[in-house]
Amino acid sequence: MRMVDGLRAIVTGGASGIGAATVELMRDEGASVVVIDREIDPDDLWSERADVTDDAAVRRAVAAAVERLGGLDILVNNAGIGAQGGVADNDDDEWRRVLDVNVQGLVRVTRAALPSLRSSSRAAIVNTCSIAATAGLPNRVLYSASKGAVLSATLAMAADLVREGIRVNAVNPGTADTPWVARLLAAADDPAAERAALEARQPHGKLVSAEQVAAAIVFLASPASGSTTGTTLAVDGGMAGLRLRPKA
Ligand code: NAD
Repeated sequence: MRMVDGLRAIVTGGASGIGAATVELMRDEGASVVVIDREIDPDDLWSERADVTDDAAVRRAVAAAVERLGGLDILVNNAGIGAQGGVADNDDDEWRRVLDVNVQGLVRVTRAALPSLRSSSRAAIVNTCSIAATAGLPNRVLYSASKGAVLSATLAMAADLVREGIRVNAVNPGTADTPWVARLLAAADDPAAERAALEARQPHGKLVSAEQVAAAIVFLASPASGSTTGTTLAVDGGMAGLRLRPKA
């Protein structure tokens, strides 16, 4: 029996990185999946273009996805953007821009999808949060605040929806080897040294792979986790929970 056999899913930000790996694994595990992303292949019938900051576009894309899928069981809120800097480094416009995508984007898509999820007997929402929500990372105040909001919203949504049979969980990836991190590394003065520093920060000594995050998302979306709601699953090589002694 495949993990999400016969289920119908929307994955936001499914055109790249963690989202794309999630789409691939969900399809391998038997689900029908529509990607909602601001950058899609227009010839792909299983993709809908929408920027999650545009409520009307989100509603149109979710309605089109539900029609194509014939209903909806799974929503993966994964679209997100990064931000760098300390508390004084981003102006109000940048705060609004990042929160608009990472927090309100999740709200808009969930709001539009909720009526369809309510009709499913195996409804699940999985939000892509971050290690930045649970650990203080340098130079990430805005991004961390946005993912902290995702974490808290996940818990509150789980409480509101549990009696309706809709589970809500989140994954907390550590630094993952995706096009996003490749862009960050490319912009560094010494990309190899920056990559080595990011790898060393995670106790297992590597970057997380997009496929490993996808596996956690698919588990939380699947009926196998039917008694799991209001949790976050860290996929971070031990970064959130372990305290190692320095290497001798
Ligand atoms: P990515 O840049 O490879 O993919 C992000 C996708 O989201 C892209 O396809 C992009 O087009 C889409 N997207 C961005 N803004 C959008 C918008 N306004 N509307 C619609 N689509 C939009 O990034 P990734 O590394 O795969 O990150 C995916 C998620 O994982 C994000 O929420 C990110 O915060 C989270 N995350 C990433 C890492 C990491 O190290 N890569 C770590 C922790 C959490």
